[in-house]
Formats: sequence, C-alpha cells, structure tokens
Amino acid sequence: MIKKIDHIGIAVKDLTETLKLYEGMLGLKAVDTEVVEEQKVKTAFLPIGDSEVELLESTAPDGPIAKFIDKNGQGVQHIAFRVDNLEQRLAELKEKGVRLIDEKPRRGAGGAKIAFLHPKSTYGVLIELCERD
Ligand code: ZN
Repeated sequence: MIKKIDHIGIAVKDLTETLKLYEGMLGLKAVDTEVVEEQKVKTAFLPIGDSEVELLESTAPDGPIAKFIDKNGQGVQHIAFRVDNLEQRLAELKEKGVRLIDEKPRRGAGGAKIAFLHPKSTYGVLIELCERD
C-alpha cells in the first residue's frame, strides 16, 4: 500500500531564513516554492534522493502551521507516505477504524492529492498520504 516516504514536513517561522541553512549550508536545492491558499502555507520542496523535505511557513496567524508552532515550536510537523489510489486507501483505513482528518483527498502543493490521518489514531504522528501522477 505504501510505496515510500514521499516527504517530511517541517514547520518553520521564516522560510527565507530557513533556506539559508538547507540550501546555503546543507547544499540542498529548493525546486518548488508555492503558496497553498486553502492551507494558509507557503511551502518549499527540497529533494533528497528519492524523498524530499517540505518546509512550511504559515501565511496567516490562524493557519495550521502557525498553530503548530505556537504549541510545539518549529520542527518536524508531518511525515508523508506515497500511495496509489488515495481515495480507496482512505476508504479502507476508515473501514479499519483509523480516524481521518480528511475523508476525501484534497489538493496539496505540487498538484498532489493529499489527506491526513488523525494523530490520535497514529500514536502521535501526523501522517499525510500523498498521491502524485
Ligand atoms: Zn506534506
């Protein structure tokens, strides 16, 4: 069902500032920087081998990333697993009693279809399922 770790999502206060570390010092390269309005985030994806790091900066004080940072500080916010046929995967997980944040896929950065599982059902880890063409 799960093909690989698609990306690791990291909540940051200042994307430009954070990129000085990831690009300037760690030598990675941001390939996509995009604002996703529905999620009130600005994201940058930095490929590492077959996976990526996703840096997320909130665009609004009431956005999910801003709330996460208020509560936990900056750091790893979610892990994304690549799947095929996301809609069917969600139906199966629901059937098995896993709590879903998103019952239906929604649009993520880079045109991906994404859905989050509820951390109450996943021992505290916010898991994103992600389908890409
Ligand atoms: Zn993500």
